[in-house]
Amino acid sequence: MVALDMVSTTRSPLADISTSLKALVLNASYEPLRIVSWQKALILWFQDKVEILEYHKTFVRSVSENFDLPSVLKLKTYIKHKRLDGVRFCRENVYIRDNFTCQYCVKKFAQKDLTIDHVLPASQGGPKIWTNVVSACRKCNQTKANRTPEKAGMPLLRPPRVPSWLPVLEHEILTEKIPGSWKDYLRFK
Ligand SMILES: [Zn+2]
Repeated sequence: MVALDMVSTTRSPLADISTSLKALVLNASYEPLRIVSWQKALILWFQDKVEILEYHKTFVRSVSENFDLPSVLKLKTYIKHKRLDGVRFCRENVYIRDNFTCQYCVKKFAQKDLTIDHVLPASQGGPKIWTNVVSACRKCNQTKANRTPEKAGMPLLRPPRVPSWLPVLEHEILTEKIPGSWKDYLRFK
C-alpha cells in the first residue's frame, strides 16, 4: 500500500476532513448501500472493486502520485441485500428502525427516554423479535402495561417489521453532513 498524506485544497478546510470526506458506496444497480471512510474508499478502488462516479475537491498525496478523493463509488459487482439477520437485533437498532419515535404517541425522543415495548406482552408469550418489539416512551410503556395495543386502546403507528439495510443507511445519512455530490444518488427523502 502506498503511503498517503492528506492534502487539502483551499476549498475544503482541514478541520472538516475527517467528517466530510467519506464516500457513498452504491450497488452495481446504483442503489445506495453504505458510507465508508476515504481510506476505505481508496482501498476499494485500489482493489478494482469499484468505479468512481464523483470526487471530492480534495486529494491525498503519495510519494509519486496525487489521488483525488472519491465521493461516490459504484460496485463493479452487484451484491445481494442482507436481509433478516442483516441488521443486528439490539435495542439501539430498534430505535433506529423506528426513527426514535414512540410508536404509540408518535413523538420523537432521545435514546435515553425510550424503552422497548413488547407488542404482545412477554407475560403472554410475546417473543423478543423484530416483529414483536417497538420503541415506546416511558409514559406510553407504563400506560400500555401488560396489554396488547387493542386491549389498551393504543394503536401502533405502524406494524413492526424486520429492517433491511436501508433504514440503517438512512439513519447514518441523517447524522452526517451530506456532500452535494451525493444528492443525485440518494433518492429517499
Ligand atoms: Zn409515547
